[in-house]
Amino acid sequence: RLFYDTDCSLEPLAGKTITFIGYGNQGRAQALNLRDTFKNAQNVTQPKIVIANQEDSYAKTAEQDGFGYTTDWAAAAAEADVLFLLVPDQIQPDLFNNQIAPKLKKTACIVVASGYNVFYKYLNFTSSNDIVMVAPRMVGASVRSLYESKQGYPCFVSVEQDGTGQAWPLALALCMAVGATKGGAIESSCREEALTDLFAEQAIWPTVIAVFREGYKLLKELGCSDEALVHEMWLSKEPAEIFESAADLGFIKQLVGHSSVSQYGQLKGSQEMDVSWLKKHFEHVAKERVLEGAFAEEFTAAEQKPGGIDGALKKLYQEAEKSELAVGEKRVRERLGLKT
Ligand code: NDP
Repeated sequence: RLFYDTDCSLEPLAGKTITFIGYGNQGRAQALNLRDTFKNAQNVTQPKIVIANQEDSYAKTAEQDGFGYTTDWAAAAAEADVLFLLVPDQIQPDLFNNQIAPKLKKTACIVVASGYNVFYKYLNFTSSNDIVMVAPRMVGASVRSLYESKQGYPCFVSVEQDGTGQAWPLALALCMAVGATKGGAIESSCREEALTDLFAEQAIWPTVIAVFREGYKLLKELGCSDEALVHEMWLSKEPAEIFESAADLGFIKQLVGHSSVSQYGQLKGSQEMDVSWLKKHFEHVAKERVLEGAFAEEFTAAEQKPGGIDGALKKLYQEAEKSELAVGEKRVRERLGLKT
């Protein structure tokens, strides 16, 4: 199901206190969109918008944007009728369970922008709360710029717990307020959001990275230069154009823009490829790593080790930078005077 503006009303939010926990990537964009929607709405009592953020540059931005902010999570939680939980996923369980949940009204609606913590049951809700997901499929800057240019953006919506019996009209009002129903908000679930998002991140894109890395290595062994490889494979921006055309024309239809040699090679090659290993690997990622929670457990454990996620990421980057592809690209970029 898709939900459009005509399916929604802002009335369930009239006069309510809407608290944003986190004014970062998503928090800022969604809070600004919500404020503008109510500014332009007629005959609806304005909600009160509260921003809670730690003392950092985002907090200063909240002030510049005319909101003001508090660093008192508990006080912000206590007055919320609707609470957007928009701090990074790995921060949410500790902050929510210890400082926010104990202060929340029994009928408050908690809004998440990602299925992760709800699907893995890392957040302790009471059964009287509404739990809603409003999850844009893009970064906050685009959520804001598409809203400003009066266009929609893809966004998942779901009701995970209907504590008040009124969670759906409220969820749709929230989607409308943040501009997500202009192009049709997509009915989904935290399970589906977590599965699709984590599968893309842990199966699709790692496969693409590995394909480029191994392809680069082989062609280098076969005598190709770094310049030729880097330009052929991505510096020309051809892959970016292919994905742009896939969105505009269709994933397969975009092939018609290529030469006959290329079209034949791509269609025949993908048809004849032995994908049995890929199927097995993808199943492992989808079932064991994502649905059964092995990745979430590993990620939580990494967060708790000395150095946390930042330390783990630093090591992963160091390893990746050693690949033939990364070393070759660095040489080319230095020679061309490009950013390294
Ligand atoms: P941000 O990384 O922008 O962080 C939001 C705010 O939380 C920042 O002020 C950040 O501060 C602060 N913060 C970081 N650590 C702590 C902490 N320990 N205690 C308190 N505040 C902290 O978050 P996002 O907007 O990226 O993510 C919010 C939600 O939106 C997540 O659920 C995410 O999955 C979801 N989402 C994100 C998208 C994206 O493109 N980013 C897209 C769609 C959904 P500082 O940065 O200064 O540390």
